[in-house]
Amino acid sequence: MQEQQAQLEEVNSQMEEQQVQLRQSESELKLQNKKLEDSNRYKSEFLANMSHELRTPLNSVILLSSMLNENKKGNLNEDDVKKAKIINSSGNELLRLINDVLDLSKIEAGKMELMIDTFNSSQFIENIKDLFEASVLVKELKLIVEDRYNNYIVNDEDKLSQVLRNFISNSLKFTHEGFIKIIIDSYEDNKVKISVQDTGIGIPNEKLNSIFNAFEQVDGSTSRKYGGTGLGLSITKEIVSLMGGELSLESKENEGSTFSIIIPNKSESNSIKDIPKVETEKVNDDYIKPLDGVDLNDKKILVVDDDMRNIFTLVEILEDKGAEVITASNGKESIQRLEEHKDTNLVLMDIMMPVMDGFEAIEHIRDDETTKDIPIIAVTAKAMNQDKERCLSLGANDFLTKPLNLETFSRVVNAWIK
Ligand code: ADP
Repeated sequence: MQEQQAQLEEVNSQMEEQQVQLRQSESELKLQNKKLEDSNRYKSEFLANMSHELRTPLNSVILLSSMLNENKKGNLNEDDVKKAKIINSSGNELLRLINDVLDLSKIEAGKMELMIDTFNSSQFIENIKDLFEASVLVKELKLIVEDRYNNYIVNDEDKLSQVLRNFISNSLKFTHEGFIKIIIDSYEDNKVKISVQDTGIGIPNEKLNSIFNAFEQVDGSTSRKYGGTGLGLSITKEIVSLMGGELSLESKENEGSTFSIIIPNKSESNSIKDIPKVETEKVNDDYIKPLDGVDLNDKKILVVDDDMRNIFTLVEILEDKGAEVITASNGKESIQRLEEHKDTNLVLMDIMMPVMDGFEAIEHIRDDETTKDIPIIAVTAKAMNQDKERCLSLGANDFLTKPLNLETFSRVVNAWIK
């Protein structure tokens, strides 16, 4: 009996010791995990910052080369113009690459968020078709669109568009004759299936999975025939999963490929009356000053947007009318810019931005004695009615939605510029 007791105590103390060890290794594991998470986050943040830093100088490379390419002064010869064009298209390619890297790092850092919109499937697919019409013509291919769904979709329109643009540009790249067909159809339980089918070179069986990994291409050799980075599909895969969707691929070498996604239509019901009203374009009828008369000479305008492409466009338009344009890529930067340029005559403020969004920036600008009277026009992608009201109540003078209509844009700028 005493012996048993002693054995039991022995076992007990062994177990206690094991428990202590277990707790120790658990806390070590936690520490390691945290370290890993931290280093992942640092890496992603580094990439995100780096991409941003790279985009800024690239902004001027692209913009200036495009101005040289226009040769407005007529002082460049044909060869110079050709060189400017090459610089411009290389710059754009680099920008796409940087955007891809930024997207990937955003996804890795868990910073890519969905912006849920309500949009019409037919309109959506027509817009995408328009983007590719010219390239399809050049390659003498057919681009066929079949919208069997023809209804409203509630999900992230921009991200869905990014996914399809990736599929279609791949199809364009790898198809030399035949067609590219986009089909939208309903799929069980309020889901939407979208396929992009092509009659291109196809993908060998053993590569069907690996091409979804970053930097993987069927032909990754240095002598490869097709350009590209191998990032598109890996981003696509992540975006589709963020959207709550699934991705599939069927392909046969020398016959063609079909990339399909199934995404949830996040609407409660598909009836149109339940769909929140989307503000597509605000046209302010009271503006009477004619567009041609817009003269922005001696005017300083601050353009705030985190998307360089939007900045380019606005800078182009505004400089063309004589304005001096300064830019900022988030709300925080916009406040710094205004501190340096108190004589700014107008601010064009994007709303969804990293670091500090437009709402917060508008509030800051209005709270500051030295900047409170500078007119602000909020410019944002697909905005819900409440966004517009929020902007105006925070002190924005007006509100415009993207894509901008040049005429409306010019009128609104003209109406508010000090
Ligand atoms: P990239 O096109 O920049 O190389 P992606 O990640 O978009 O990067 O595609 C990875 C690879 O998958 C491509 O390099 C190509 O080998 C293959 N691929 C993608 N789409 C198609 C397609 N429609 N037909 C044939 N091959 C394709």
